[in-house]
Amino acid sequence: MVRVHYRPPPSFQPHDGANPEHMVRVTLPDGEEKMYTGNQVPVSEVVASLGPRWEREAVAAVYSGHTVDVHQSITGAGSIRLLRDSDEEAIDVLRHTAAHVLAHAVQELFPSARFAIGPPIENGFYYDFEVERPFTPEDLARIEKRMGELLADGLEVEREEWSKKKAREHFGKLDQVFKLELIDEIPGDTVSIYRVGSFVDLCAGPHLDRAARIKAFKVLHAAGAYWRGDAGRPMLQRIYATAFFKKKDLDGYLTQLAEAEKRDHRKLGRALDLFEVKEEAGGGLVFWNLFDGRSYVRCVRSR
Ligand SMILES: [Zn+2]
Repeated sequence: MVRVHYRPPPSFQPHDGANPEHMVRVTLPDGEEKMYTGNQVPVSEVVASLGPRWEREAVAAVYSGHTVDVHQSITGAGSIRLLRDSDEEAIDVLRHTAAHVLAHAVQELFPSARFAIGPPIENGFYYDFEVERPFTPEDLARIEKRMGELLADGLEVEREEWSKKKAREHFGKLDQVFKLELIDEIPGDTVSIYRVGSFVDLCAGPHLDRAARIKAFKVLHAAGAYWRGDAGRPMLQRIYATAFFKKKDLDGYLTQLAEAEKRDHRKLGRALDLFEVKEEAGGGLVFWNLFDGRSYVRCVRSR
């Protein structure tokens, strides 16, 4: 069950629903219009009003051109299109959520970690952390394992709106300096906070209705990255990962990655004149160009 943390603005007064200023009007993709009572209406209410099938299948929505999640509220009048896992926009929502699951695992395994940002990117997502030492392959394996356990436990996704004061107190107590810097840059008096399991993060969203929709993920590698890309700022450790709605999509992506890597090796080998791969000589045969002290000799080895 999705819990929605919706706090009406202080000016909100109960009303009889007759005043159009207190109604939200949405137009569905087929042109049908629906009215909802309130200055702001949670997207989850729109989803619920469209029947149990959408309640099962809607992972997020596009409201007047912006991707929103079911935890957010909409105002005024606009067009809405609910997103299923097969819709193009849905994958970034899934990966954005997976970034919080990754951070959740890092928080547990590296309690002194400081958290920066974790956006979706092409083919996956990353999260930047300030940690005492770079992550090792063993660390990444532990993080991936813990992510799997967290997802198996079923993580709730919740959204709250906090005053900046409350957010500064919360992240200040935890010495989360990057979050404090980000809070200062957000316009307005409130910020949105997402809880994914027990991990509380400053984030604008959108995220999935529930993390259990993440059916396949892989932690790929880690690399150093400066905070804000500025060499004068702290060096962070960026963990790259990817996630999908379906296991077969992850498998397909990993195969594609392996193929690309193989092609890269061939390109590099040829460029450096180290070796050649001749498919016509049979798959798996590498022609190495080795220097024997006087001249290069060709050596054939299987890969
Ligand atoms: Zn987020």
